[in-house]
Amino acid sequence: MLAKHILSSAIFITLLSIFLANNVASASNSGLGLGVNAGEAENKQARNTKSGSITLAQNSAAKGLRHADIFPGFAKLCDIETPLRDMSVKHLKSAHSNVKRLKPSRTNSFRKKQTLGPMQVFNNLYFVGAGNVSSWAIDTGESIVLIDALNNEVQAQKYIIDGLKALGLDNKPISHLIITHGHGDHYGGQSLISRLYQLQIIMSSKEWKWLAAGAGGFSSARWGQAPVFEKNTAKDEKPGGTLGVNDASTIRVGDNTFTFYVTPGHTPGTLSVMFNVINKGNTHKAILWGGTGLNYGADASRIKTYTESAARMRQLALAENIDVFLSNHPKMDGSDKKLAALKKGGPNPFIVGNDTVEAAFDMLYHCTTAQYIKASHP
Ligand SMILES: [Zn+2]
Repeated sequence: MLAKHILSSAIFITLLSIFLANNVASASNSGLGLGVNAGEAENKQARNTKSGSITLAQNSAAKGLRHADIFPGFAKLCDIETPLRDMSVKHLKSAHSNVKRLKPSRTNSFRKKQTLGPMQVFNNLYFVGAGNVSSWAIDTGESIVLIDALNNEVQAQKYIIDGLKALGLDNKPISHLIITHGHGDHYGGQSLISRLYQLQIIMSSKEWKWLAAGAGGFSSARWGQAPVFEKNTAKDEKPGGTLGVNDASTIRVGDNTFTFYVTPGHTPGTLSVMFNVINKGNTHKAILWGGTGLNYGADASRIKTYTESAARMRQLALAENIDVFLSNHPKMDGSDKKLAALKKGGPNPFIVGNDTVEAAFDMLYHCTTAQYIKASHP
């Protein structure tokens, strides 16, 4: 038992050293001035004690929270006082305790609150989401590429199909549906869209497998039918069917290229997507971060994948000069406020600049590092 403890402590210290080393390296690269506040000797001492690990977690959370004014939606990730929720446990409890809760009353009250889109955000990008979950439509010239399908068929009809019609885009087929991850608030409307269009459904190969295996036991009565992987559509076949993509793979559709990054953390095969957006004739690079919340309890090894994904995307943002940050929930990327600002006119609030995109990933990195440290020393 003691030997096991010493071994796990040793692994923790090694991993923490890697984190801290990355942190210092990224700080000097980025010019953001993010360093480790405590000296190396103090850190060594700190890592060996529970109170020391709490201090390190608090320091990391504080670093993340410096960007909370720009990304208030991420602040919850930095809350190391409240135990991380485990949605699979919550679902099991509600399934056994209260059948009445399964009525779609939340959908109705939620609809009344919805005041967002449909709205054109860039020359080629449209918001067709609901109040608390986003769907993005990219006009590639020849067809529409859709990212995420909302909770269910009712929402897909109301916000996506009717939304595209209101925007004058119903003359173009939806050729691809990219699903960021295997939770039903992102795939639930896929069955309706699949019936209406000959489209290809894309997820990461890893996520297709995870979804088929039960998606971690997490589901909701609000969610529509999950897509089922058939086989990868070959390049020379007509669009349609399903496609599992791997890290750094690309597809070209019309005038745009979509680059996929497998960014595990929220789920094991979460997909983040990079593509071009056009503003008044100028091309900008956008990244859509595919999953944000921690909802599987204090699982240190899963949280570790999150910190690694965030660090990696921060480097990508720098290397690719990405200046537009999007999410699949309006409160996460501030789309709700930005859409309201866009209605009023002025400069496009979605072009936030490379520093702000980097700050988003920096916040995700530091907040989840804090959670990782805490989960590693319960
Ligand atoms: Zn999710």
